[in-house]
Amino acid sequence: MASKNVLNLHICIVGAGMGGLATALALAKEGFQHIDVYEGASTLGFVGAGIQLAPNMARILDRMGVWKDIEREAVDLQDTSIRQGSTDQELGHVDLKYIRSTYDYPHMVGHRSSLAGSIYEGCKREKTINFFFATEIEVVESYGPRPSFKARPRKGGEPYDVQCDVLLAADGVKSTIRDQMLRLANISAKIVDTGQAAYRIMLKREDMANDPELLELLDKESVTRWIGEKRHIIAYPVSNKQIYNMSTVQPDLNFAAAPSATYTTKGSKPQMMEVFGDFCPKVRRMLDLVPDGEVCEWKLRVHEPLPFWVYDQTALVGDACHPTLPHLAQGAAQAIEDGAVIAVVLSKLPNTSPEAIHKALKVYEKVRMERAYTLVELAAASGRAMHLGEGAAKEERDRQFAALKDGKGPVPDKWADADVQKKIYGTDVVKVAKEEFGAIYAKL
Ligand SMILES: Cc1cc2nc3c(=O)[nH]c(=O)nc-3n(C[C@H](O)[C@H](O)[C@H](O)COP(=O)(O)OP(=O)(O)OC[C@H]3O[C@@H](n4cnc5c(N)ncnc54)[C@H](O)[C@@H]3O)c2cc1C
Repeated sequence: MASKNVLNLHICIVGAGMGGLATALALAKEGFQHIDVYEGASTLGFVGAGIQLAPNMARILDRMGVWKDIEREAVDLQDTSIRQGSTDQELGHVDLKYIRSTYDYPHMVGHRSSLAGSIYEGCKREKTINFFFATEIEVVESYGPRPSFKARPRKGGEPYDVQCDVLLAADGVKSTIRDQMLRLANISAKIVDTGQAAYRIMLKREDMANDPELLELLDKESVTRWIGEKRHIIAYPVSNKQIYNMSTVQPDLNFAAAPSATYTTKGSKPQMMEVFGDFCPKVRRMLDLVPDGEVCEWKLRVHEPLPFWVYDQTALVGDACHPTLPHLAQGAAQAIEDGAVIAVVLSKLPNTSPEAIHKALKVYEKVRMERAYTLVELAAASGRAMHLGEGAAKEERDRQFAALKDGKGPVPDKWADADVQKKIYGTDVVKVAKEEFGAIYAKL
């Protein structure tokens, strides 16, 4: 247990997304007494969409006491099927039942609101966490030794200054704190235009009720991925199989001309139907169930890897420092790993001096950065493999998929590859942080 002085540090978190919420809860569970979370939106405000709940995420959430609530309405995956989008022919099939016994936690899929809502409920049970919703952090005035920033209540009221001992910026892929921080070191956070966008779709059981082929998909504990050149769709049931969640990826046409601040837009249904016009009838029937005017499109943005995540007594968390393509389904899981590791390193502080805080945050960076960026690259590689057009590379990929029938070889859809799973699910970052803190801290 950390000393009373350490536990009394004033820690401010910007952003109540998955990263900010998990960081706050992890800190409270370590015994920190003064945790303030500032969120620009007036509520949690999560879009209706599903999310994969991988074992590395579940392990951390279970330690924080919120996994059971999430698990209750999540769907326990048994397998995944990767199919040719145009024909629905199965290219590869991977059994996922082994995951629970191998990694102690299952690989599940759930609703984003269930995941975020349960972590938030966990936070609300902790008296040491205070939320400031509808409060935008405009500018960081100092990154240390005592970080300070200007907070503006969005519903009126004067902006006010806040000073703290540790500032954690979990303000997402559009992080302004990251940009300000990098400018101090004369670095610009270069946006990498992925050229990809995603439609997020949720179909209700009653929408699918008259179509036995679609109901069969909803009733299976399975992730299905339909792939085609430069496009794919990933789909799975969530909310106790009452909702079928679909997330697409396709070339980004609508955002190309939009200002860079735009990340989501109302999509056009005819355009969505056209993009997947050569996909099989089953897929098109599902897309056609989306009501006109309710097509939601997201731009998929990432950044070049950053040289550092920590400046003085301030650290970046989650998408603010390692935004990723969704193809490995690890963005939120990695943000949650960040939060858990930050709580460990701060709890191991030998004293409350700014130097010690800086060094502890650098241990966080050391434990997390390489792993996070490896997974960012793996997600991009997985997308490249899935989006191949006709040619030798696609033939080789499909040969690898076909070899899975004999239980052999790598899986080109990387999240389902056993070696990749071992790397991601088999590493307990909390354990690593606890075991390696002393040695890394001593070398800084
Ligand atoms: C299509 C798609 C599918 C995905 N699927 C998966 C999946 O299956 N599994 C998985 O693990 N991950 C998945 N992800 C990734 C995951 O959603 C993100 O990585 C994760 O939500 C990032 O969390 P975060 O807390 O870092 O950022 P965010 O969730 O973006 O939160 C940032 C918060 O900060 C607030 N904020 C920003 N600026 C300020 C400010 N100045 N002042 C106050 N508040 C501010 C914002 O309002 C927001 O609430 C997917 C992503 C996409 C796009």
